[in-house]
Amino acid sequence: MAALLAVEAIETFYGASQALFGVSFTIAEGEVLALLGRNGMGKTTTVHSILGLTPAARGRIAFAGVPVQDWPSFRIARAGIGLVPEGRQVFPALTVRENLVATARRSAGAPTEWTLERVLGLFPALAPRQAQRASTLSGGEQQMLAVGRALMTNPRLLILDEATEGLAPLVRTEIWKCIAGLKAAGQSLLVIDKNLAELAPLADRACVLEKGRVAWQGMPDALLADAATRHRYLGV
Ligand code: ATP
Repeated sequence: MAALLAVEAIETFYGASQALFGVSFTIAEGEVLALLGRNGMGKTTTVHSILGLTPAARGRIAFAGVPVQDWPSFRIARAGIGLVPEGRQVFPALTVRENLVATARRSAGAPTEWTLERVLGLFPALAPRQAQRASTLSGGEQQMLAVGRALMTNPRLLILDEATEGLAPLVRTEIWKCIAGLKAAGQSLLVIDKNLAELAPLADRACVLEKGRVAWQGMPDALLADAATRHRYLGV
């Protein structure tokens, strides 16, 4: 079966400065891929290349078998790739409810149909706050809202960029539970996170970036067990 997402030898630049040097990996339907690496190694650039926000200058990106590397980002998003961006970025002046319905969209081939009711069921803390402006939520609630907003687009592939960063341990646990629930529901996921110990049990495979190149790919358990590789590429 063709991969849901196939990234092949992409090279991405910021002006004259090259950030990615031939990054390749695939994600199968229903699979969870952990994208790992220390700060500045190219994780966010990889995600932005997939979404056409910082398009790859060379290489190929296919989504559901269709080459998308030359598409504008709105068309890639509409094809079924959802992003929970680093730093959350909810619409601060809109209410919780407005944030959720603003991006609502059906997407052909998504594993589950997300509605306002289902998202509020997933994050009960948001339900009583529907009329509240997003800027008045706690960091954890804003992160839940960011995940909920991405789910409302009914993505076939959901990308989470540092979704647990800067959150209190209890809230982090809640976000991890939510990610586990999404996986159990068959959601395909690309997850960037620094908490290898929490991400590894959820991920089907891991891909480690080092200076814009794939330095290691394999099973998360193998990475957890391999202290030398972990130390070398992740500093943990
Ligand atoms: P972090 O966890 O810190 O976000 P990352 O692995 O996501 O790290 P990227 O943000 O993709 O790393 O950065 C990869 C490289 O590209 C770095 O050398 C970074 O300095 C460079 N870079 C990132 N964004 C820009 C930009 N807007 N302009 C120029 N260079 C950039």
